[in-house]
Amino acid sequence: MKILIVDDDIIDREAMKRAIMGSTIETIIFEANTVQAALDCIEKHAFDVVLLDYNLPTSSGIELLVNLKSKSIDPSVAIVMVSISTDDTIALKCIKAGAQDFLVKTEINSFRLQRAMVNAQARADLERNLLSSYQRTKILAEHDSLTGLTNRYYFDETLNRESHSHLRNNDKLALLLIDLDHFKFVNDNYGHDIGDQLLIEVTKRVKSVLRTNELLSRLGGDEFGITIINILSPSAAIRVAQRILFQLNTPFQIENYNINITASIGISVFPDDSNNDKELLKFADIAMYRAKELGRNQFRFFESQMQDEFLSKYLLENKLKNAIVEQQFFLEYQPLVCPQTTSIIGVEALIRLTVDNELIRPDLFIPIAEQSHLIFEIGEWVLKTSIEQLSIWKEKNTSPITMAINLSSKQLADKELPSIIEKYTNLYNVSPSLIDLELTETALLTDLEDTKKVIGELKKLGCKVSLDDFGTGYSSISHLHNFPIDTVKIDRTLMPSASKSLKLERLLSGLVVLLKTINVNIIAEGVETEEDYFTCRGLQVDAIQGYFIHMPMSAEGIETCFF
Ligand code: C2E
Ligand code: CA
Ligand code: CA
Repeated sequence: MKILIVDDDIIDREAMKRAIMGSTIETIIFEANTVQAALDCIEKHAFDVVLLDYNLPTSSGIELLVNLKSKSIDPSVAIVMVSISTDDTIALKCIKAGAQDFLVKTEINSFRLQRAMVNAQARADLERNLLSSYQRTKILAEHDSLTGLTNRYYFDETLNRESHSHLRNNDKLALLLIDLDHFKFVNDNYGHDIGDQLLIEVTKRVKSVLRTNELLSRLGGDEFGITIINILSPSAAIRVAQRILFQLNTPFQIENYNINITASIGISVFPDDSNNDKELLKFADIAMYRAKELGRNQFRFFESQMQDEFLSKYLLENKLKNAIVEQQFFLEYQPLVCPQTTSIIGVEALIRLTVDNELIRPDLFIPIAEQSHLIFEIGEWVLKTSIEQLSIWKEKNTSPITMAINLSSKQLADKELPSIIEKYTNLYNVSPSLIDLELTETALLTDLEDTKKVIGELKKLGCKVSLDDFGTGYSSISHLHNFPIDTVKIDRTLMPSASKSLKLERLLSGLVVLLKTINVNIIAEGVETEEDYFTCRGLQVDAIQGYFIHMPMSAEGIETCFF
C-alpha cells in the first residue's frame, strides 16, 4: 500500500509512521509537510491512501482535500483526515468535503489506523464505482446511440434552462426543428441499415455548419433540433437553416446508392414568439409543418396566424375521426346523362359530411383527410358504399349505369387499392367494368412508379379510369399518352357560362376535337346553363354532368328522377 502522510508537524508524522509500521500491511510511505509539497507528490505517484492533517499552515487540510476532489485525482485514492481536535463537527465537515474517514491524532494506534485505511479504501472504491455508473447512465440517458448526438431529453432540459437564463439577460434564442423529407421512403426502399447510415451522414453535414453556441440534438426518428443561444436577431437562424438546406443539396453516397434527401425546417424565436419553452417547441413544429405543406426543402418562421390555421385543422381532423366512428358520412350522386337523349348513363358519387347540422364541404375536409391518412378509411367507406349502391340499382334498373368514384392521390399510390375494390365488387356481385375511377392530375404526379403499377392493376381488374378536372392545373397531354385513361372530364371552368370568352369557347371545341382523335371518352362537367348544354350537345361529347341536368342528390332522388 502506498501511503502519503501530509502533516507540518514532524512529531505527528513520526507517530503516524510508527503506527503504520506496526500494522500488518506492507507499505511504502511518503511524507509532505506543506500543501504544495503534497500536491507535487500526488502528481508524481499513485497513492492508495493519503493521511491528511486538518490543520496545515498557509492553506488548510480541508482546502487541500476540496482541491484534490475537484481536480478529480484518481478517485480511488482514499483520504483519511487526522486532527488533534475531537470536535465532531470538524469530522463531519471533512467527510462532507469528500474524506473517507476521520481520526483523532491522540487516538491513533496501529490497529485503528490500519482499520481506517482499509475501510477508507473500500469506501473510495465504492464511490468510484458509483460515480462511473452514474456517468455511464447519464451519457446513456442524454445521448442518442446512433448519431452520438444529445437526445430529446437533453434537448428539452437545455431549452428549459436556457429559456430561463435568457429571460434574465434579455437575449434571444432561436429554435430550429428539422425533419427530413420522405425519410420513410429511404427506409422502405433501401432498408433500415441504409436509413441509419443516412442519419449518421446527415448529422455530420448538419454539424459542420454549426458554431459552438448552436446545440444539435436528435429528437427521434428523422427529427433534429437546434437551439441557438445568445443571439441579437433571428438572422442567425436563417443563416443556419440556409446552410443546412444547402449541405443536403449534394446527394449522399451510401454503400452503392446515391440518395437524395431534403429537409423541412421550422423556426421559432424566444421571446418574440413565446417565452415558454414548451410553447416554443410547439410553434417551431407548426412552422415545420407549414414548410412541408409549402412543398418541403425549405424553412419557415412561425407566424401567429399559423396557430389559428393549425388549430382549425386540428379540430377538423378530430371531427373527421369522430365522423368515421359515428358514421356521419353519406354519399350524394350526381347524374351523368347522354346529351342527345338526356337519359342516365351513370352517376358520380360525392361524399358529404354534416356535423351538428352544418355541412362541411369535401373541398375542405378531403385535403385534411389526405394529410392525416384518414383518407384511407374514408376512401374505403366511399368505395364500399357506392359499390353496394350500384348492386341495389342493378336490381331496380333495366339498363346498367356506371358509378364514378373519386380517388385521392394517396389511395392511388396504395398497393392495396386494387384488392380492396376487388373485395367489394365480389361481395356485392358488381362488374368492375361499371366502376369509373376518377383521378386528378396531381394524383398522376405523385409516387409515379407505385401509381403506374396500381393503375395497371385496376385496369386488369376491369375498372375504367377517368382523368378529372381536365383543363385546370397541368393538363399535360402526355398523361393521356402515359396512362391508360378511358375518359377525360373537361373541367367546368371551360364551359361557356363560366369562361365568358370567345377564346376559351374555342379552346373547348378544339380540345374536344383533339380528344376525339385519340379516342378517349369525353364528359363535360359543370354544365350549368342551357347554353352550356347546347354547346356540349353540338360538340357531341359522350356525357354531360352539371346543375343544368341535376344537382348531386340522394340515391332515392336518382331513382325518382331517372329510373
Ligand atoms: P369534383 O370531382 O370535380 O366533383 C364535382 C364537383 O362539382 C362537386 O362538388 C359537384 O357538386 C360540383 N358540381 C357539379 N355540377 C356542378 C355545376 O354545374 N356547377 C358547379 N359550380 N359545380 C358543380 P363537391 O361535391 O363539393 O366536391 C368537390 C370535390 O371534392 C370534388 O370535385 C372532388 O374532388 C372531391 N370529392 C368529393 N367526393 C369525394 C370522394 O368521395 N373522394 C375524394 N377523394 N374526393 C371527393
Ligand atoms: Ca370527380
Ligand atoms: Ca371534376
